[in-house]
Amino acid sequence: MNSKPVALVTGANKGIGLQIAKDLASHGFTVLVGSRDLAKGEVAAKSVADDARAIQLDVADQDSISAAADCVRKEFGRLDVLVNNAGISHAGAPGRPLEEIARSGLLPNVSLNEVRTVWETNVFGVIAVTQAMLPLLREAPAARIVNVASGGGSLAWNSDPNNPHRYMFGNYSASKVAVNAVTLGFAFSLEAEGIKVNSADPGFTATDLNDHQGTGTVEEGAREAVRLALLGPDGPTGTFSNSDGPVAW
Ligand code: NAP
Repeated sequence: MNSKPVALVTGANKGIGLQIAKDLASHGFTVLVGSRDLAKGEVAAKSVADDARAIQLDVADQDSISAAADCVRKEFGRLDVLVNNAGISHAGAPGRPLEEIARSGLLPNVSLNEVRTVWETNVFGVIAVTQAMLPLLREAPAARIVNVASGGGSLAWNSDPNNPHRYMFGNYSASKVAVNAVTLGFAFSLEAEGIKVNSADPGFTATDLNDHQGTGTVEEGAREAVRLALLGPDGPTGTFSNSDGPVAW
């Protein structure tokens, strides 16, 4: 059995997930670098730590999720931290400008196929991966689950007519509102077992997700998810926060 705590980060082959993986490794975790393309995960794992391992994990594919859970059980027998980071902002071709992504995801325009694809990864993927990993998380002494949500999914912020970003509130943002609901659902159900479940808002971060229009670095974007992954026994559960503090739901 691994003497170090074990963390799984989904969508960790690039962007904020890769940085979360690096930060957790530097805090003493053996990190499993989730990647739907195993080869990309293997390249990323080399940049994370010597003992980091790539694991094939497509959060929209139940067979892939089940195989990943089996692999973690065989190799480690438990999971201390799960970071549900994998996410997509749209289902179209990669590299589209942010304005186009935002416009095409607005609810009056977006196709139901696009809605289903985005929710399959961003919402159902979080539920499916968490359910599959739960028996392994229960084997850990103090498991933590972090769901990477978004300030774009804050109903309170977006309800403010002065919020300059609310014109972008569409399918992606709605999926991130649902992520927060999923966080609360798991948090309430697992509270008695001491498993803490929280949502992290990385802030507007320059990654492929937004055609690198974000203003923050991945180091900044990873910070809150990492803090929540490291919560001690007195830490909260069922919260939504960024590196400045609580975010209004
Ligand atoms: P990114 O650089 O595009 O990375 C997204 C990651 O998710 C990639 O590794 C991608 O893998 C993976 N992914 C997508 N679909 C997947 C699937 N079905 N199964 C497994 N992995 C999948 O974007 P990012 O900005 O780092 O996003 C990370 C998280 O932060 C997302 O949940 C996003 O919604 C959230 N977020 C980002 C921002 C921001 O400003 N960037 C703000 C708020 C929240 P591939 O390489 O295979 O595509």
